[in-house]
Amino acid sequence: MPLSVGFIGLGIMGQPMAMNLLTGGYRLTVYNRSAQKADPLRAAGAKVAASPADAARDADFVYTIVSDSAAVEEIATGKNGILEAIRPGAIFIDSSTISPTVSRKLACLTAGKGASFLDAPVTGSKHGAEKGELTFMIGGNRDTFERALPLLKVLGKKHIYCGAHGAGLSAKLAQNAIQSTIVEIFCEGFVLAAKAGVKPETMMEIVQSSMARAALTDFKAPFIFKGDFTPYFPLKWMHKDLELASEAAYAQGVPMPAASAVKEVYAAAKAQGKGDLDYAAVITFLEELAGVKVRTLDSNPPPSEQR
Ligand code: NAP
Repeated sequence: MPLSVGFIGLGIMGQPMAMNLLTGGYRLTVYNRSAQKADPLRAAGAKVAASPADAARDADFVYTIVSDSAAVEEIATGKNGILEAIRPGAIFIDSSTISPTVSRKLACLTAGKGASFLDAPVTGSKHGAEKGELTFMIGGNRDTFERALPLLKVLGKKHIYCGAHGAGLSAKLAQNAIQSTIVEIFCEGFVLAAKAGVKPETMMEIVQSSMARAALTDFKAPFIFKGDFTPYFPLKWMHKDLELASEAAYAQGVPMPAASAVKEVYAAAKAQGKGDLDYAAVITFLEELAGVKVRTLDSNPPPSEQR
């Protein structure tokens, strides 16, 4: 009999991950707060549960990927939540990017039910989720990690054990502090160049010929130049992760001057109503401040017409 998974959270990331588990041979029961998002999985052969508890009941693995700490706490500890139904011996894997402190609390509560917990945040975004090529950062007991590895291999290509409960999340927050800053400073540089009349294509050729080249900005640049901010990783979640990194930095007495400044740029873009766009839309806030657009030449007025 194939192993069973109760999968909760069918957003940008969860939808393709759940589909990969189904095609990877797991017996899948899914739950999503907005019920219609479960339709494609139902059509592909998954069972659909009426609550997180129903999804978790009798499952070998309970898998969650929802928006933030409050959402994970609600689906785990709320009424009809996972911890009402998880069975002893099961493994609860949470891939949401949330507070390491909240995650450690959930690990304790899960242990109280005789089950095991892993924080397993990911990087690789929508493409990585669709292709089963995510990178995982794992916190928890190593033997639980080893038991969960066959399942995690269906979802990802790299699985990095980081240490005790919360360590996966601590690594993830550090990684997103780096990622958000690379994109933001790339945007600042391109706005500066555009204001001086240097074409984005010219600037890109220069960056790609220099040590400033990054795989991340190679990927994001074509979308930025077209003004296509379809969300792969929504800006509101990048801002959330910078807030979480900032909390972690405060708790540990670690100064993060660049990430703190960058956090406020994402906060400003979010306050402008751009939270549901991809986080590369942070450039539009910088463009508005400078009075210039970093787009293909024909959509970019000459410097003399720019504010
Ligand atoms: P998303 O598309 O916005 O999906 C969020 C999911 O959380 C939806 O299924 C939503 O349900 C559910 N949810 C939110 N609040 C809930 C609540 N109170 N109770 C139950 N369900 C709730 O987000 P996503 O991009 O998939 O990201 C999910 C997590 O993965 C986030 O923590 C994010 O930081 C992390 N992550 C995302 C990416 C990426 O590239 N997108 C990459 C790495 C990590 P509804 O459908 O009902 O709203």
